[in-house]
Amino acid sequence: MSETVETLTPNTSGMDHLPLCIDSSSTENNEGRSDVWGHFTKQKPYSEKKAKCNYCGDLIKYLAGTSGMRNHLTRCKENPNREVFKRQKLLSSTTEVSISPSGTISKFDQNASRMKLVKMFVKSKLPFRFVENDDFRDFVWSLQPRFEVPSRTTLRREIWELFYEEEKAKLKMFLSKQCEGVCLTADTWTSIQNLNYMSLTAHFIDNDWKLQKKILNFSQTTGHSGELIAKHVEVCLNNWELKRVLSITVDNATTNDVGVQYLKRRMLS
Ligand SMILES: [Zn+2]
Repeated sequence: MSETVETLTPNTSGMDHLPLCIDSSSTENNEGRSDVWGHFTKQKPYSEKKAKCNYCGDLIKYLAGTSGMRNHLTRCKENPNREVFKRQKLLSSTTEVSISPSGTISKFDQNASRMKLVKMFVKSKLPFRFVENDDFRDFVWSLQPRFEVPSRTTLRREIWELFYEEEKAKLKMFLSKQCEGVCLTADTWTSIQNLNYMSLTAHFIDNDWKLQKKILNFSQTTGHSGELIAKHVEVCLNNWELKRVLSITVDNATTNDVGVQYLKRRMLS
């Protein structure tokens, strides 16, 4: 009865997009278990510890581990996955990397991905509850099961802590110190719970001569009367330290005439 030679079929398909966990401590010294054995065949007599490359037929010694075989795979001209092995080698030994079919390398980083998620919600104006959507979570899980998707309350807190305060400070600095003038738009709205809200939007030209639009405030008010709205706008302007207002646009309700007159007096004084 002849001895069987251990041969493992090389995994050449689908390799490029699988998340690979490269940990040299666990792959280098476990003879027969390392993924490189998928590309080599052990040669007899086994005591000589030689392995033959399945692509080019070179014999490689594996006395102290499989690193020699791994190095060969980065050089072997016949190896169809040579580039993948080369890139793996470049990356640190314990980093989790993914190599896309187009050859780009990505590294999973919980914090960096979390930051991108938070930014996406702000920039795309997505409702916070979307983060708890089952299909969205399923989609994220399919990409990276280790990514922890936050709850909507955590997301809201992170937006506040990571971006809002900082962006507000930047905008305030620009509007109060550098901006030549802003045009405001104020509008009021009553919700189905009969609560009154007012939004105050600033339009201005930035340092690159681009027209910008920023919502300065969206807040609850106690009523719709002209003077009340005007006082509310005044508080907002003071908070933002806005002095150079060029114009204010409101809708054509008669109460607004009273409000604008009030603001005009206050601004001029
Ligand atoms: Zn070879």
